[in-house]
Amino acid sequence: MKKISKKKKIPLINELKSRPLTLRLYTDSILREKAKSVQLFNTVLQDFANDMLFFMQQYNGIGLAAPQVGILQRIVVADIGDSPISLVNPEIVKGSGTENMIEGCLSLPGYEVDVNRNTWIEIRGKNLKGKRVDYELEGLLARVLQHEVDHLNGILICDYGKLKPELQDIPVVEKEIEHNV
Ligand SMILES: [Zn+2]
Repeated sequence: MKKISKKKKIPLINELKSRPLTLRLYTDSILREKAKSVQLFNTVLQDFANDMLFFMQQYNGIGLAAPQVGILQRIVVADIGDSPISLVNPEIVKGSGTENMIEGCLSLPGYEVDVNRNTWIEIRGKNLKGKRVDYELEGLLARVLQHEVDHLNGILICDYGKLKPELQDIPVVEKEIEHNV
């Protein structure tokens, strides 16, 4: 493990070190901001992404984007049960096929929206070590990644259609939906 020099004050590192992670809920304005590209790949980033995965699992989520825990960096994690994916600076470069599916979101607990998305995508980005990666995904995992990339751009499921039930107040019911992303 590399030691990080205390003399270098890099805001990114300080931001990622903030603990504990807390879930940001709609209507928190941070969920509407555009996240910044990650420039530094180090153990702080790796620890943070692992914490995100753990956090997501605690909430029975299958995907999580850094802004949902208050960090405006382009980091997403996903795990639909086979193997976890952590992707930094992800970019969807191709997509095909469309399908509607009811989605939930950890930041909108208890609510659902019918969302139309591509059934297949090609997504590029970097892994936690800064190595360029390219995935071709389909089905649920493709959907989860589209949902998480939306979060990095300040887009939420309520932008796709009507929330069910209708939003009346800041949601308080948690851990209700099977597939939270
Ligand atoms: Zn979400």
